This record gives sequence, C-alpha cells and structure tokens, in this order.
Amino acid sequence: MRSADVMARARDLFPGGVNSPVRAFRGVGGDPVVAERGEGARIWDVDGREYLDFVLSWGPLVLGHAPPIVLDALERTMASGTSFGMPTLLEVELAEKIRARMPHVEMMRFVSSGTEATMSAVRLARAFTGRDAILKFEGCYHGHADSFLVRAGSGVATLGLPDSPGVPAALAALTLTSPFNDLGGAESVLRANDGSVAAIIVEPVVGNAGFIPPDEGFLEGLRALADQFGTLLIFDEVMTGFRIAPGGARERFGVSADLTTLGKVIGGGLPVAAYGGRRDIMGQVAPSGPVYQAGTLSGNPLAMAAGLATLSALTPELHFRIEKRTIAMVEGLRNIAGDLGVGIQAESAGSMWGFFFTERPVRSFADAKKCDVTLFRKFFHAALDRGIYLAPSPFEACFMSAAHGDDEIAMALERMRDALEHALA
Ligand code: PMP
Repeated sequence: MRSADVMARARDLFPGGVNSPVRAFRGVGGDPVVAERGEGARIWDVDGREYLDFVLSWGPLVLGHAPPIVLDALERTMASGTSFGMPTLLEVELAEKIRARMPHVEMMRFVSSGTEATMSAVRLARAFTGRDAILKFEGCYHGHADSFLVRAGSGVATLGLPDSPGVPAALAALTLTSPFNDLGGAESVLRANDGSVAAIIVEPVVGNAGFIPPDEGFLEGLRALADQFGTLLIFDEVMTGFRIAPGGARERFGVSADLTTLGKVIGGGLPVAAYGGRRDIMGQVAPSGPVYQAGTLSGNPLAMAAGLATLSALTPELHFRIEKRTIAMVEGLRNIAGDLGVGIQAESAGSMWGFFFTERPVRSFADAKKCDVTLFRKFFHAALDRGIYLAPSPFEACFMSAAHGDDEIAMALERMRDALEHALA
C-alpha cells in the first residue's frame, strides 16, 4: 500500500501527517486518501484506486480536475515567468471579470488565501469604523486568523476543539457570536455592544458547519441591523463566491455587503483570494490609505491566469447547468434515504450541496451537531469503498463541477444507495 507508506512518512513530517487538519480524516476515522492525479470528476490515489470527487479541493475546482482551458492558460503564462512582484495585466483582467459579476465589489485587493482575505477585511472594517469588536455566527469558519477561532466551523468543529489556545483572550473577547439564522440573537448582541461592533461577518450560505442555507429574510435582516448599528456587513464568499449564483450572494439573495471576501473558485485551483467592496472603504488600504496589508506573491501571474481561465469558462449558462445537476444529486440522495427509511436533510445552492442524517431541519450549528454522526461515518467509509469521495466530516459542504455529467451523478447515486444500505446493515 503506497498510501500507507506515504502517510507514515508524512506523520513524521507534518502534524497529524497533513498540511490542513480536515484532510487527516479525524472526523470519520481511518487513513486519508493520498491523491496522485485528477481528471474531470475523478481522482486516483497513489494505489491506483479511482474515486468520483465531490470535494474538488474543497471548492475551487468548479470546472473539475485538470481542465484543459486552465492548463493551457498556465502553460502559456508560465513561459513568460512565474512571478514578478510588479503590476501585471492579468491581475487587472481577473479583477475586471470579478467586478463585472459582482458590481458591489468596486475595488479589491488580491491575496493568496481565504484567511488573509477575511483577516484583512476585518482589519479594514476596524480601521474604517474606529471600532474593535466583530460579530460572527456559531459554526461559520472564516479562516484561522486569531479573531475567527471563536466558535468556528470546519476543522475546528470536526475536531470538536474548544476555542484555540494561542489566541490572546483579550482578542477573543472582541469576537462576539450569535447563532446563524437568529436575527433576534444578532440584534441583542449588537444592542448590548452598541457603538463597539466594527463588522458583522457571515457566510451567506454556511458551508463550514455542514451545508446550512439562510432562512428567508436572515441576510436582509443582517443588512438592516448593520445599517441600524453603524456596523459594516462582510459577506465571506470564499466558498459561496461563483458557486451559489454566477454573481454570488448579492445575485442569489438580493443583499449587498459592504465588503466581500473571495477565494477558492477565483483561483481555479491555485492560491488566490481577495477582499473588496465599497470604494470609500477600500480606499483606506495602503498605499491609498493607512490600513496596511501586503503580499509577496499576491496577484501571482500563474494564479491569476488560472482564475481568469476558470471564470471565463464559468458562464452563467454553465453555472445553471451545474446547478441543475446538483439539484438532481440532492434529490436523488433524499429519495435514497427516503426509500431506506433514513431521516435526511439534503440541500443545495448552485454548485454547493450537503446533507445531514437527521429528521429535523438544520438551521444552525446547534441543530447540525444533533445529526447522526455515527451513521455519517459509516456511510462515508462505505461510499469511499465504492469510489465516492465525499467531504470527510459531517460538518463540511460538498461540491459539484462542470465535469460531473448525468452519467457521473447516476453512478454516484447508485453507489451511494448501496453505501447507505451497507451503513445501515
Ligand atoms: N472563509 C470561508 C467561508 C472558508 O470556507 C474558508 C476555507 N474553507 C476560509 C475562509 C479560509 O480560506 P483558506 O483556507 O484559503 O485560508
């Protein structure tokens, strides 16, 4: 088993054998799949096993693995050099493409990870408002900057960690939290801290506590609360951007944030993220303004080229084609669970989807934690054994790509039916 050998070496080199915690399979047990190659909807591990991939590098690969259009762009760009640390045309082109779909992102700054984007957006919000506190929602994950490791989702939720050691208590005290989909809760926090809250930051559709869509009116309500309390509204669209609609949350829900953070899809599989929004706010970022933020590899030409190729290919028509197949996937999964008498909540938004094994609707992280985690683990492994690669945690979303055609979905559903039967046996 080459995977076992690789993981044995990796465990000696990296904490838990991985370079990002959820990859370690702690949420489901067992050993991680060691990837070797990907093409379209499929990945192969180092032992030659084939999987239909519904994780897609945790969201970026909306065109699937190794799409020729992205590889060609990379090859062309690479021939002229890999990094300059100088302005380039490619970064202007990618930014224009983003703004054409998200006009409220009037100005932006490219960075290299979602964490950098959210961290920088919060620094900017603090500077712009002259306030120190932020309000986030339980189970939302906004990267691993100190301010966000309070009641965080994703790996923090999967591992059941308390708020991380190493985060100064004085800083954590500035992160206020409230349950997702609870406007009353958000309002009380804002009222109790009137004049202190710089920003409300939220995943417009939660993908880091499992998949939890906003109730009707929740995002509109947050917009109104932000205006009422003089607080900025930040939509963290690192995951939802170019996934829940061609233009993200504003298009899907008709609510505009003051600042938006992006990542994943905009880099087409290379490390790109961005924060942006209102021109008057972004104008405060150095060197236009005093709020410092910088990056040696920010706007890296290879990364820009991959993002540009991805967004060029991801037309609204293609987006809606993927969305239709995502709906078919989720409906299929609901039918399977229904046939087998298993309670399930399975939902999607655009090309993002997820499911919980529970009879009851899931509207918050507290609800998510009540799902049947034991059944999830069994199902996950049964699906993996049948060549279906799902997110290895009940608290993560799944994704779909342009390469997942009707055949792949039919095949996935057939294998998932068998997997669920096996998990129940
Ligand atoms: N925000 C959200 C909504 C995310 O889903 C993630 C990562 N999954 C991040 C921020 C952090 O991004 P990164 O892992 O690139 O730092």
